[in-house]
Amino acid sequence: MSESTTPPPRTDFTKPPPNFSRVSKLPPDFYARWRSRISFAPAFHDALDAVPAEILLQAIWHQQRVLREALATTNGRRVRVLHPGFWNREAGPDFREAVVQFDSEPPRTGDVEIDLSPSGWRGHAHDRNPAYANVVLHVVWAASEHLDNSQPTLALKERLDAPLAELQMDLGNERGELPDELSGQCSAPLRDLSVDILGELLDQAAQVRLQVKAGQLQARARQCGWEQAFWEGAFRALGYKHNAWPMQQVAESLPTLRGFTVSVADAIFAWQMCLFGVSGLLPSEPESRVADSENYLRRVWDGWWRERVNFDEMILPRRLWRFNGLRPANHPQRRLALAAHWLARGDFLSRLENWFTTPLPTETAPTALLELLQVEVDDFWSWHWTWRSARLAKPQPLIGAQRVTDFAVNVVLPWFWARAAAGNNPALRQAAEQRYFAWPAGESNSVLRLARERLLGSAPPKLLRRAAAQQGLLQIVRDFCAHSDAVCTECRFPDLVRSIPR
Ligand code: SF4
Repeated sequence: MSESTTPPPRTDFTKPPPNFSRVSKLPPDFYARWRSRISFAPAFHDALDAVPAEILLQAIWHQQRVLREALATTNGRRVRVLHPGFWNREAGPDFREAVVQFDSEPPRTGDVEIDLSPSGWRGHAHDRNPAYANVVLHVVWAASEHLDNSQPTLALKERLDAPLAELQMDLGNERGELPDELSGQCSAPLRDLSVDILGELLDQAAQVRLQVKAGQLQARARQCGWEQAFWEGAFRALGYKHNAWPMQQVAESLPTLRGFTVSVADAIFAWQMCLFGVSGLLPSEPESRVADSENYLRRVWDGWWRERVNFDEMILPRRLWRFNGLRPANHPQRRLALAAHWLARGDFLSRLENWFTTPLPTETAPTALLELLQVEVDDFWSWHWTWRSARLAKPQPLIGAQRVTDFAVNVVLPWFWARAAAGNNPALRQAAEQRYFAWPAGESNSVLRLARERLLGSAPPKLLRRAAAQQGLLQIVRDFCAHSDAVCTECRFPDLVRSIPR
């Protein structure tokens, strides 16, 4: 495979590949046909005798261990909880997309925040935080004398369905499995499928996802070529969900930056300097309180101040980046530092191509890709999480095995698949599919955990041991859940499942 300068022809990604033969019990395009028949509207859509720990209060709300018929706000309005919302493990309100009804008003969809006391609303500055603007109900342990009525508030203390000690026993290890009545409406028909058929359904959805991602890369390649389309996909993947778009912006500046970096002897440093500069992530002052950071930061800073006039229009405002809830290892600076190593190699894409076209046993392909993506050592970034963090006791890798899985199934394999499809090369397309469907599962995330909980309930864990099955589940969420609501209004996926021949 070599980089073509002519734009790739448009491929019909809606059709399953004719040689897609792994699925044997379902018609080969069962999921894809269903999906195409549905006209998707645009996205619309402690001490136990005293006060419980907040996490227990959250678990109680999650499992609705309350007297559901007797709920009322602190100012006397009846509350019906049509859906408690989805437990949010990240920053922001504790539950997302709950559906609640006050008296006989129309149901409201919004977030639920759990605090021990009503004063938590202002005390935690939720009233000034835009992330809490969509809260429809503040759930607390007990009402207080000085009520804050700026939010509808529900106190749980007198409304539990069992003594607190008993709930602690039941829910102390709660990690979020929904009771039957709160599972998705597809959960029951899915439970009736054999594990084999369920696996095939997930694989078909995963095939759709592979083609969707390949289609996106191909569409971009038509505008800027395959190589640039790859780098944009790679940068987006390095941005995770919170910083995908600023990463895309940085990637779009690569052709210009390349013109500068080719002339610099220390290519890794030149790429890092440019990527930090253009991203807007360079600290505003070159001084660091961390002694061994000072030299590196000063060098980047001085270098960038000499060159920045040439790239002024590309520099992103720092506010585009989100850092809330990011683990230090996932900070965008570290990801840009890693990308600089890849870009400086010059032969990165030909090595990637070599990895793809070399027949490898299923179990060694991920390790071989990790070796290719890994950086031996970076003098600064292997030893620091961020610009200002203290030197680590031992060097840390710039990319781990779990990230490699995301990278493979979201960028590398769809990119090769798209190129094979555009070049009408069924053998290479099949090779991409084989790696995709054999790839071991990646790390779970909040979307996957929620989807598993709502759709698959008690399905055996082996079902999601491959990355493709995880991708299939995410595609179902994208195709169906994202177009419905917490109570599955008008979702057609249950009908699709019931129509599967037994
Ligand atoms: S919205 Fe549809 S696919 Fe999602 S959980 Fe509900 S029934 Fe299942």
